[in-house]
Parts: sequence; C-alpha cells; structure tokens
Amino acid sequence: MKQSKLFPKTSKTVSREEISTNAQFLVKGGFINKLMAGVYTYMPLGLRVLKKIENVIREEINAIDGQEIFMPALHPHENYVTTGRENIDVLFHPESVSGKKYVLGQSHEEVIVPLVKQYISSYKDLPLYLYQIQTEFRNELRAKSGILRGREFMMKDLYSFHRDDKDFDEYYEKAKLAYMSIFRRVGIGNSTYLTFASGGTFSKYSHVFQTITHSGEDTIYLCRKCRIAVNKDIVNEQKSCPECQSTDLEPEKSIEVGNIFPLKTKFSNAFHLSYTDENGNSREVVMGCYGIGLGRVLGTVVEVNNDDNGIIWPDEIAPFDVHLISIDADKNGNDIYSTLQKNGVDVLYDDRKESAGSKLKDADLIGIPIRLVVSKKTGDKVEMKKRKDSKATICSLNEVLDTISKQNV
Ligand code: ATP
Ligand code: MG
Repeated sequence: MKQSKLFPKTSKTVSREEISTNAQFLVKGGFINKLMAGVYTYMPLGLRVLKKIENVIREEINAIDGQEIFMPALHPHENYVTTGRENIDVLFHPESVSGKKYVLGQSHEEVIVPLVKQYISSYKDLPLYLYQIQTEFRNELRAKSGILRGREFMMKDLYSFHRDDKDFDEYYEKAKLAYMSIFRRVGIGNSTYLTFASGGTFSKYSHVFQTITHSGEDTIYLCRKCRIAVNKDIVNEQKSCPECQSTDLEPEKSIEVGNIFPLKTKFSNAFHLSYTDENGNSREVVMGCYGIGLGRVLGTVVEVNNDDNGIIWPDEIAPFDVHLISIDADKNGNDIYSTLQKNGVDVLYDDRKESAGSKLKDADLIGIPIRLVVSKKTGDKVEMKKRKDSKATICSLNEVLDTISKQNV
C-alpha cells in the first residue's frame, strides 16, 4: 500500500483526555479514532492489526475444537429476568417506541443457553464448544484507558457444555494452554501470567490472564519461579503460590487480557438446560465460559511494546511486514516496492513528498517490524533496520527477503 493514499495521516497531537500510552500512540499513528469516551473507530492500520489478532484467536480456539457462530448483539430483556441479571450495572437497556425492552449484549450466556437448549437432549450431544467474535456493550463507569476499557468492544467468547465436572476440568486445562499460545503469538507471552482469581459464589477459583505493565489497573501477586500469580481480591485467602506454596509473592501492576471461568450449572439451571444420561436420568449441563477482549489485547500489546518514539509491533500482528521509505529515489523505491510485492511481502511504501526526518519519525511511530530506506546513496541496495534494534545495515534485496521469510516462520 502506498502511504500517500493511506487514510488518515499521522498526527502530532492527541486530545488531552487521552492519558494512556496505548491511546496516545494509536491515535497519533492513525490506528484508531475516538467517537466518545470508550468508543472508537478502527482505521485501516488499526483494523489490520485487529484482524490479525482475531485470526490468531480463531486458529487457537479452532484447535481446541471450538466451532464459530455469530449471535445477535440485541437481546430480549426477559432472558435477563430469567437469570436475575437484568439489573447488573454495566447493562445498556434500549427500549422501542412502543415500550418493548431490550438489552445490548455484554456477554452471551442469556442467548447461547436458550439456543443450545433447542439442540441438546442426550449425553451423546455433549461435549460442545461454541464461540463467537462479537461486539459487546458495557456501560463502564470509567472509560479512560483508551481501548483497554471500552463501552463498545470486540470480544471472543467461548462457551463449553459438558456432562460433568470431570469433563469440564479436562477442557478447562486445554483452554488454559490455548490462551497462553494466543498471548505468546500476539507478542505478550513473556509478560502474561496465569492468575488465580476468585470464582464468585459457585467455584473456588477462576483464572484470569494478567499482563504486567506499570499502567495496569489491577494488582497481582507473582511467583516468578512458577510464573503463576494470585489476584489482589483473593490474596487474603490465598497467601502463598498455589503451585510451590512459596510466600515470596511480588506485587505488580497488570491488565486482565483474558478470563476463563467455571459456570457450573448456574445458567443451565436458570434455563433448564439438561440432558439424559446413559441410565435415562435427567442431569443439568455443566458449563464454562472463556473471554478475550480483542481491543484490550491490542492496547496491551502497545502498552508492553513501545519506546519514546512509538509502537514496536510484534511480527505476527504487525499491520505490514515492511515499511519501505524512499528518500529522493522514486525510481529505485518503485522497483523495490514491486519486487517485494511480487514476493508476497506486505509493504507500506512511503512514497510521499515529505522530508526524510518526518518520514523516519512516522515509521517509528507506526512501528512496522522492518524498515527499509532507499536513497540516492543506497544504489541497488537498501538500508534495513528492525524497529526494535538501533543499528541499520546496508544489504541486498535478497538478504531482506531472507530476513522476512525467517521472521514469518
Ligand atoms: P474487568 O475486570 O477488566 O472489567 P471483566 O472481568 O469484566 O474484566 P469479562 O467479563 O470476563 O471481564 O470479559 C472477558 C474479557 O473481555 C476480559 O478478560 C477482557 O479481556 C475483555 N474486556 C472486559 N471488559 C472490557 C472492556 N470494557 N473493554 C475491552 N475489553 C474488555
Ligand atoms: Mg468488567
């Protein structure tokens, strides 16, 4: 893609309300645009990253037998009366002119349980794993962390349905591993910890995945040896590492990027979702739910991977593989651009008539993993620099292609 055509231009300033690092870089870089507090448009660069995150999540959830569906965002109010959740504080309640009450989905238990009830009757129909990637709405009290806490945001929510606790427990362990693969692939694996959280009224624990960053809203207590943490809310009842029992737990600020939760029979009970076992007895279905906020992950990646000049995208979710910058060398630039494209490389080509300084500044802000500069000086070679490194090298186009193919393995 030619940068001269890219919508929008980068901007030098950002509104004073945007205090978080992720929002500052993402707004300046032209990845997102704020409509109102907690509600953002994804611009072309931002949408590219969001879609890549979505694909990583889809691949990993498909690998644990998740089947993708797409449920409505507009829900009937009655279903929330059934579960007793009609008054939870984050719900938006639209109402039609004639007075019919609706709810905008903040998660989808109230839709998926009545849906699945229409198709499950026997133990032979279980287990079942259904997920979607969908817009959720939550009337969050404080929405000031950019896309980390939106009032409208994309979420992957997976629901699992089982005959008993044992079957649920086995799947829960698989989901934990799938989540760690997701966080590794999007580039926050090293700073993300499986964290014990309180399980509400129906389970001792649930687990959240917390990414350590100084801007985090949460606090976790970390056992560095086991790479496990305990959430602030339960550290009074769980004072030691659940794995090695060490009491040497260190507090760290963190962001919750994902959550896996035993629902037991709470929702099956509310909607009478049951099945007939081998002996002809009727039993309630055991459920689990598993969420990941896509925008929250995107914002967290930026919080973790940046320097003073801008974002440093991890390879797998970068908006482009290569940022090619032509400095007074349009002919060479055009040739290299088309060679890279012919080799299947996703290139953002800065063909604009801007100063070298402002082009390089934009490249640092946008944060594409490999920067190539062609100028009168470089002849038929290019100057290659990785965004995360400080040193550039002069190399041939073949060497560049070699570096990119290694990176994409
Ligand atoms: P938090 O404690 O941060 O409010 P939560 O416990 O409400 O999170 P869940 O209801 O479990 O979160 O939602 C699943 C996932 O959706 C979270 O782990 C997070 O990644 C994401 N998420 C939750 N709320 C938001 C939000 N307001 N904006 C963006 N992502 C969110
Ligand atoms: Mg919440």
